[in-house]
Amino acid sequence: MSTNTGSLKSDGKKPYADEIVVEEHLRHPLFLNALESIEEGGKLINADNNIVARLKRPKRCIVVSVPIRMDDYNVRVFTGYRVQYNSTLGPYKGGIRYHQNVNMGEVVGLAALMMIKNSVMGLPYGGGKGGITVDPTKLSRTEKQNLTRRFTSEIGPFIGPTKDIPAPDVGTDAQTMAWMMDTYSQESGYTQSGVVTGKPIEIGGSLGRVGATGLGVVFVAERAMEKLGRSMKGARIVIQGFGNVGSHAALYASDRGAKIIAISDVTGAYFNGDGFNVRELIEYNQKNGNLGGFPKGQKMSNEELLLLECDALMPCALEGVIDGHNADKIKAKMIVEGANGPVTNEATKILHKKGIFIAPDIIANGGGVVVSYFEWVQDTMSFFWDEEEINERLRKIIIKAFDKAYTMAQEKNVDMRQAAMAVSVDRLQKAMLLRGLYPR
Ligand code: NAD
Repeated sequence: MSTNTGSLKSDGKKPYADEIVVEEHLRHPLFLNALESIEEGGKLINADNNIVARLKRPKRCIVVSVPIRMDDYNVRVFTGYRVQYNSTLGPYKGGIRYHQNVNMGEVVGLAALMMIKNSVMGLPYGGGKGGITVDPTKLSRTEKQNLTRRFTSEIGPFIGPTKDIPAPDVGTDAQTMAWMMDTYSQESGYTQSGVVTGKPIEIGGSLGRVGATGLGVVFVAERAMEKLGRSMKGARIVIQGFGNVGSHAALYASDRGAKIIAISDVTGAYFNGDGFNVRELIEYNQKNGNLGGFPKGQKMSNEELLLLECDALMPCALEGVIDGHNADKIKAKMIVEGANGPVTNEATKILHKKGIFIAPDIIANGGGVVVSYFEWVQDTMSFFWDEEEINERLRKIIIKAFDKAYTMAQEKNVDMRQAAMAVSVDRLQKAMLLRGLYPR
């Protein structure tokens, strides 16, 4: 291997990679898990230690003070973060979170996960993430707007359509992105709609973005069923969560002939062996704000829902709902992770041994970031596609990612989560070796 690459396996000495220490303020479980996954994925493809060492460090961590005038005319100073984890494959890409628990360790962990996800999905993006330590429910609309605009201005020199493209996450939404886009554009002197994704349609957002994650979950489930010799038509599906991801997954799966036999939200779970009419559920949910009191199903607990016998279980609500305590009791034939991290690593190992197929979150819920990518492409071209074209392009990209991980899983005889990590690290490694290490 030439010495102008990122790799220098020159003298057979123990590589320095082992000496990496994670600083105290970055020791967040999300980051530590991401590091473990990078190592595991790297091991599977016998990755170069020098590359793995680079993948285990964020490239740039930005901390900004965000002073804003509150409604009572006093000034409060919030802390904002933008972490630019890796840009080997393209501009940084990842959401902005407004939550009282946001800290540097969490943002670094989430940024690392975005690098892993963008790589496995085959997108031309690196990984990034940002946030502000704030409880957005305690701010008025004006305060939220002031906060968003000043934050955008503070990180302005570091973001941009070719540099770093934020998107919504917990506590932020399409309106937040509209303010970010406007602020960045005002400061540039012209409209730059490609600086953020997840915008309202009227100002450069993409059709299909709202339902993209749920649709991706269904495309992945369909492909997994095909691989296992089953079909979506007539499949009995159980879904935890009826928010953005769960309700769209339910709708698109039932449109493809599946029976949604159980569904849940924060008010509990509802069972109907003949399959729910999903449009009725959506209407009820919109009218009442949740599924509480839905009359056409038998009530059960969320824990019971997870243990139902079914062709596919789609956890689309919370992290860690399937762990060491209930994994052994799961009777689903496959699990498709709509939420982030609903099945713990310990549970994954138990389920894999039991022969239960798991489509991991970094692929299964990647539909959102894929359509974010389409939004950015459309903004860049100033040419917009119809929803049919967007959904078909999404299907192709997500199935390609699934198939790559599936082949890796077969070849290495590992579960899909490990396989997806290996595919991700492999793509990053190839690009890093080709680009080399600057200055040498
Ligand atoms: P959401 O807030 O729209 O919906 C969450 C749903 O979960 C609600 O129906 C809520 O009632 C339900 N819920 C809350 N507590 C519950 C409990 N204890 N038991 C059962 N249900 C419960 O959120 P969302 O956007 O649908 O996201 C869901 C998950 O998917 C999160 O983990 C999120 O990080 C992940 N995700 C979302 C997207 C996206 O595009 N929205 C993309 C990737 C990953």
